[in-house]
Amino acid sequence: MTQHLQSKCIKVSGAHQIQVTTTEIKPIYNNDIIVKIVRGGICGSDIHYYNHGGIGNFSLQHPMILGHEVVGILPENKQTVAVNPSKPCLQCKYCLSGKSNQCLNMRFFGSAMLNPHVDGGFSEYVVVRDDQVIPYNNEIPSKVMVFAEPLAVAIHAVNQAGSLVGKRVLVSGAGPIGSLVVAACKQAGAIEIVSSDIQESCRESAIKMGATSAINPLDNHDEYFADKGYFDVSFEASGAISAIHFAIDATKATGTIVQIGMAKGDAPIPVTKFLAKELTYRGAFRFTNEFEVAVRWLEQGLINPLPLLSHEFSYKDAEEALQTAGDKSKAIKVQLTFGE
Ligand SMILES: [Zn+2]
Ligand SMILES: [Zn+2]
Repeated sequence: MTQHLQSKCIKVSGAHQIQVTTTEIKPIYNNDIIVKIVRGGICGSDIHYYNHGGIGNFSLQHPMILGHEVVGILPENKQTVAVNPSKPCLQCKYCLSGKSNQCLNMRFFGSAMLNPHVDGGFSEYVVVRDDQVIPYNNEIPSKVMVFAEPLAVAIHAVNQAGSLVGKRVLVSGAGPIGSLVVAACKQAGAIEIVSSDIQESCRESAIKMGATSAINPLDNHDEYFADKGYFDVSFEASGAISAIHFAIDATKATGTIVQIGMAKGDAPIPVTKFLAKELTYRGAFRFTNEFEVAVRWLEQGLINPLPLLSHEFSYKDAEEALQTAGDKSKAIKVQLTFGE
């Protein structure tokens, strides 16, 4: 096939500035391959770039292709593939010790952290390094497999906690990531999984994904605070300061809290409670080999992510899709189709 392609793609150039435009696809290195994208999932970071023209400390310096949750096919043989959006250097001290999510030279799809920015996967075609492509059984629908990336984030968070067999677990925040953490905790052997979210629709999706119960943290929950806490492990997927405090109070002395949600600014943390309860506080950032684990879990049907899929749009309607995805009262996970 031709090595230079024109590809329709979705570019963001600032807050509320989105265009369906054309980019040129050209492999550069010997191990570069072209993937024809079939479907993509819109993630919180995509919504941030669209709403604010940036995320955290990084603002857009030039137009960038959005998207990091994509699956597609190899044009030459129609093999279905999940695309790992992380491209670590494989040479730095973190890569060499199996911690590629901490890579010093990471190139992650659809991220303005580097300048020039790394383009994302919301494009008819993308060029990736061959190890970013994970073939999967073509009988699995793309709408299922496109959850591989957020599920990898969830499985990585679970791995940060150690064994969950027989554990009582709190999952705070029940957006797509929190709900997938619920499912991953169940798969990992937790005996009780309490989901906590202020939004009723989110609590419902956590129940669908396997939570034992779902609570509103604004209600009274003294039962979880008695005797220095109730949960062996808490996953904090909301990033809300009040939710971090809830997790600290509801986690047993000597228990573990895994922080997945990005907090706004510098969250004040009650250091004395950590010390007195001898809590372990661990971060969870993206994933390493959990991406392939997520592909296999989805391939084998160990987790059904479809209760989280709320809307599908053609990529040509990207703006409407991003607006819908940003309205958490009606959307959970919004997917874009690129024509199968
Ligand atoms: Zn994502
Ligand atoms: Zn590296």
